[in-house]
Amino acid sequence: VGGGSVEGKEERIRVSVRLRPLNAKELARNDPSDWECINDTTIIFRNSLPERSMFPTAYTFDRAFPCDSTTKKVYEEGAKEVALSVVSGINSSIFAYGQTSSGKTYTMTGITEYAMNDIYDYIDRHKERAFILKFSAIEIYNEAVRDLLSPESPPLRLLDDPERGTIVEKLTEETLRNWYHMKELLSICEAQRQIGETSLNETSSRSHQILRLTIESSASESLGKENSSALAASVNFVDLAGSERASQALSAGTRLKEGCHINRSLLTLGTVIRKLSKGRNGHIPYRDSKLTRILQSSLGGNARTAIICTLSPARSHVEQSRNALLFASCAK
Ligand code: ADP
Ligand code: MG
Repeated sequence: VGGGSVEGKEERIRVSVRLRPLNAKELARNDPSDWECINDTTIIFRNSLPERSMFPTAYTFDRAFPCDSTTKKVYEEGAKEVALSVVSGINSSIFAYGQTSSGKTYTMTGITEYAMNDIYDYIDRHKERAFILKFSAIEIYNEAVRDLLSPESPPLRLLDDPERGTIVEKLTEETLRNWYHMKELLSICEAQRQIGETSLNETSSRSHQILRLTIESSASESLGKENSSALAASVNFVDLAGSERASQALSAGTRLKEGCHINRSLLTLGTVIRKLSKGRNGHIPYRDSKLTRILQSSLGGNARTAIICTLSPARSHVEQSRNALLFASCAK
């Protein structure tokens, strides 16, 4: 992916789709499901209404997870390898993409926990190395960056550091003492999100959340000294704004107007991922949004990327589901 430095299929962006079950509301209004995963990699639209006949009906990805798949399975097959590359010094990002209520948060919360547990397992099994883990959490809302571990702080600025690339100024970065400390921070982020969901209506559907774990490691006896075996990398768990925001912005015209500001990060991410997946060496517009600036070092180059596209199965959501699948297809 990107950079042209690594060849081979496993270096492409890993893209999976996950169908959630029909929810109580959808069942109550007899909203049928027209989607079906027919094997491990293919999802089909099997409604044959005439006005639907122009739609492509089968979409193939690295993985297609039916509505009865567990999050554990989605993690194992869709994200684990990408997440764990961080312990080898390779940056990575895992995204949940989909319309509001399709299961992004449900999926990403589980994936984050499984990945964190596996990372701690790995550390326990590698006593010959010493590890330092740092955790930070941000929310991007309307192109304003907020520190989820210091929610009262004013919006944070992005700075360009000649060595480290884009950094978020004054962002709280907690050095993790142990697994319990990590769990505590995850629940603080979760609580912050719930405050956002109840007080500012619709905030969560418009905001992006990035949880970032940075791991530095080196041979045990030499931690902190100059060391050729030292490694450092980050893994980013990204719960994106609802993808309906991107379609709304596009239908409002190609120019992003005030009020469509909220979608700049989502649209730019789409462009960046599309260009990276094509392996184009041309200009990649990382700098056009806060999200892509913050994630630049974890997208493209040697970085690994996984996208989990979450879908509502309901017929009433078919347009949004199709848009999400088209986005996911472009990422391949
Ligand atoms: P989003 O973050 O995309 O808006 P959520 O993750 O909040 O959506 O999911 C909406 C609702 O559907 C939640 O109540 C969630 O628990 C439920 N849900 C989502 N995905 C699944 C799934 N795969 N299995 C069971 N329930 C799910
Ligand atoms: Mg959500």
